[in-house]
Amino acid sequence: MPDHAVQQKFVYDFTEGNKDLKGLLGGKGANLAEMTNLGLPVPPGFTITTEACKAYLADGETPPALRDEVSAHLDALERKMGKRLGQADDPLLVSVRSGAKFSMPGMMDTVLNIGLSDESVPGLAQQSGDERFAWDSYRRLIQMFGDTVLGMSGEVFAAALEEAKRAKGATSDVDLDAADMQRLAERFKELVREETGRDFPQDPREQMELAVRAVFDSWNGERARLYRRQERIPHDLGTAVNICSMVFGNLGPDSGTGVAFTRDPATGQQGVYGDYLQNAQGEDVVAGIRNTVQLAELERLDKTSYDELLRIMETLETHYRDLCDIEFTIERGRLWMLQTRVGKRTAAAAFRIATQLVDQGLIDEAEALRRVNGNQLAQLMFPRFDGDLGADENRRIGWGIAASPGAAVGKAVFDSYTAVKWSRSGERVILIRRETNPDDLDGMLAAEGILTSRGGKTSHAAVVARGMGKTCVCGAEELEVDTKRRCLKTPRGTEIEEGDLISIDGSTGKVYEGEVPVVPSPVVEYFEGRMHAGADDADELVQSVHRIMAYADRVRRLRVRANADNAEDAARARRFGAQGIGLCRTEHMFLGERRELVERLILAETDAEREAALKGLLPKQQGDFVELFEAMDGLPVTVRLLDPPLHEFLPDITELSVRVALAEARKDANENDLRLLQAVHRLHEQNPMLGLRGVRLGLVVPGLFTMQVRAIAQAAAERRAAGGDPRAEIMIPLVGTVQELEIVRDDAEEVIADVERQHDVELKLTLGTMIELPRAALTAGQIAESADFFSFGTNDLTQTVWAFSRDDVEASFFTAYLEKGIFGVSPFETIDKDGVGALVRGAVEAGRATRPDLKLGVCGEHGGDPDSVHFFHEVGLDYVSCSPFRIPVARLEAGRAAASDTTDRPRPD
Ligand code: ADP
Ligand code: MG
Ligand code: MG
Repeated sequence: MPDHAVQQKFVYDFTEGNKDLKGLLGGKGANLAEMTNLGLPVPPGFTITTEACKAYLADGETPPALRDEVSAHLDALERKMGKRLGQADDPLLVSVRSGAKFSMPGMMDTVLNIGLSDESVPGLAQQSGDERFAWDSYRRLIQMFGDTVLGMSGEVFAAALEEAKRAKGATSDVDLDAADMQRLAERFKELVREETGRDFPQDPREQMELAVRAVFDSWNGERARLYRRQERIPHDLGTAVNICSMVFGNLGPDSGTGVAFTRDPATGQQGVYGDYLQNAQGEDVVAGIRNTVQLAELERLDKTSYDELLRIMETLETHYRDLCDIEFTIERGRLWMLQTRVGKRTAAAAFRIATQLVDQGLIDEAEALRRVNGNQLAQLMFPRFDGDLGADENRRIGWGIAASPGAAVGKAVFDSYTAVKWSRSGERVILIRRETNPDDLDGMLAAEGILTSRGGKTSHAAVVARGMGKTCVCGAEELEVDTKRRCLKTPRGTEIEEGDLISIDGSTGKVYEGEVPVVPSPVVEYFEGRMHAGADDADELVQSVHRIMAYADRVRRLRVRANADNAEDAARARRFGAQGIGLCRTEHMFLGERRELVERLILAETDAEREAALKGLLPKQQGDFVELFEAMDGLPVTVRLLDPPLHEFLPDITELSVRVALAEARKDANENDLRLLQAVHRLHEQNPMLGLRGVRLGLVVPGLFTMQVRAIAQAAAERRAAGGDPRAEIMIPLVGTVQELEIVRDDAEEVIADVERQHDVELKLTLGTMIELPRAALTAGQIAESADFFSFGTNDLTQTVWAFSRDDVEASFFTAYLEKGIFGVSPFETIDKDGVGALVRGAVEAGRATRPDLKLGVCGEHGGDPDSVHFFHEVGLDYVSCSPFRIPVARLEAGRAAASDTTDRPRPD
């Protein structure tokens, strides 16, 4: 039996941890330990583990062993520093800093100067020779402690500070002297008493313990929970707490504090980037109370510290092999490192940095590929505002949440009706609402972009806009939307009225007045073949993308095809790297002027009438296929036979009813309209999604599918005669049972054989099915007996597995589901691995068991979603198919999946 008496270790000295222990020590603690062990100047301290936090949260009290361990570590720290926590004549002070595995806004952050009390302020003054500093540090402690530990509002302290400045006629806190600071500290203590009914704790150890508990508790704070839900961070990780001995940047002009990056996080360029603030304590830099100077200025202020900082930055970059960001403090000419981590960066910088590090020999190509992702690539593919020309800060009127990327320009409209009306007359509009709801859908569809003043990343506007691929900025709170007066008020007092031009940037969240010029993305120019990576004018970004894509293509196992219905899309898809078409929908071939033929088909009363209608459609379809096969010559093209319910090709039921009623009133009834109306009534369905569509249509409308098969076969024969290499695959939609497939297959084979005889050619057409119904997935083993390939239709499969009608549910209750954390992300965006994904996995296994050479792909929109692509790689599909614009993303992610895959599966040829 394991010995439970072996105590779990709850506290690690900075010398004991390392950067790989983020789960246990949190990101901040793990990196403080790593820097300590690299020999960098880190103020000594220790980390309380996430395990201790979990134990505290489970039991509601700190584990008994924790107190003892903290005492032991505090003892050791005191011995090292030669002073005791809060010691009256020379107090050791510490910061209590939260730090989870993933950095998380919404949690308590940090309390500085823990250990100070009425008793030890004079000691600190004496030791530092600076009375003002001592009182300033004390009032900061009371302020931060009141705010974050005692749950007071920070505003009461801010107001008291303002009051003190006013009394003195001072503009900045540096103008307050020691006596002012002392009075302020006293005032702050009174505030604590008034607001919390208790005194500010004078016992240093009690201060520390209360702060530690507050960090633990903040893990379950409302904002922290919400953030975790949205970012899909598990709730059971807990946070670590770092106790770090204080160093002081507020000891005079030879002290200060700053932040730095080892490279420019916006461009990836190496250089000196950061901000520095003289005579200030940590949080002042971010709080923006005084103006910082650029880091390069530090060279003039304190060359020794500056040189050392640059050396350390180089050490860190080489060690982490990545861009790092850094917090540091200089205390009387001595540099201290307070934090580092692998820094966030823009999408463009991510690609640039990855290839730069390869060139520096720090990482290999596989690692470079792992360090970028499809979402970043997608961001680089949106057109953007021309930074040189107009997107300058003067024209910026607001800044909201970047909810759905892209750059959109249009006339301001404030309701859905106007959006639709104006866009019909050819205007580009931006729909502006306080927040959107399902009634705004038409307007959102009609608009170039959507702007709201309320709501976050999971608000209705954000979710629906992302689903539509529309640019959206939401939660631009400083903008006041007045829907009654139809105008938008900016903080500066300007008003944007209906019809005024406005520009929104969904990638940054910025809102501009007027028209900001839009430039195409250089990355798209490159994919389009209009810019070559080797050319002189190709910028570094394009070269980086090119290199990383080339590597991804080399290692990926999944092939990437396009969902494309016409030659133009097919050609673009091919330029973007598509290796075939995974889904060609044929329904558009029944629209426009061909509608009349479809009506005749539906209304046909005799075989002869029906055949005549089909005969009319045949050459038109054939023509479409010829073009498509030509555009994709030599590559597979999967053609799906007609899928949607027939009523979609008939006139709208209300419109037609009105027309017929009016005609009857005029005693001028049109025979054809009457029959049409009857047909519309006959075909009307309560739930068209679950009705007469897909293979069911093929089975009940005689001659429909065989006409389509004939058009495909004849088009292939025509291409062959012209010296082409057509590779058509015929796909049957909505199959639920193998019997359906068998019947269609027998008919199709007869037609194909007939065409082959007539043209004296062997066409090598294959025939397969979509797997998009749960029953099909569950009986995939049987279905595979009649199918050469499966293509998972994950859109319908998601709809049928969840019993969600996508068009209805996304707009109605998905926002609520996302907010409640029922989903982290819509199952239509990223495949639901546990439900829908389990069916896919099962069908792959059963299908291959029946037919080892079964070809497997996916043609739902998930085929272009990064997470889903990894899943499809893992279950062993042969290809994914997605919209032409998503192809580069799918190629990249397929490469990343392979580069992270440790199992060795052969690549298909
Ligand atoms: P956050 O996670 O919000 O960055 P930190 O724990 O890093 O919180 O601390 C907030 C600020 O206080 C930072 O500027 C940090 O550098 C500074 N700080 C934290 N601990 C100390 C310390 N022991 N001495 C001096 N400054 C500190
Ligand atoms: Mg920090
Ligand atoms: Mg479908």
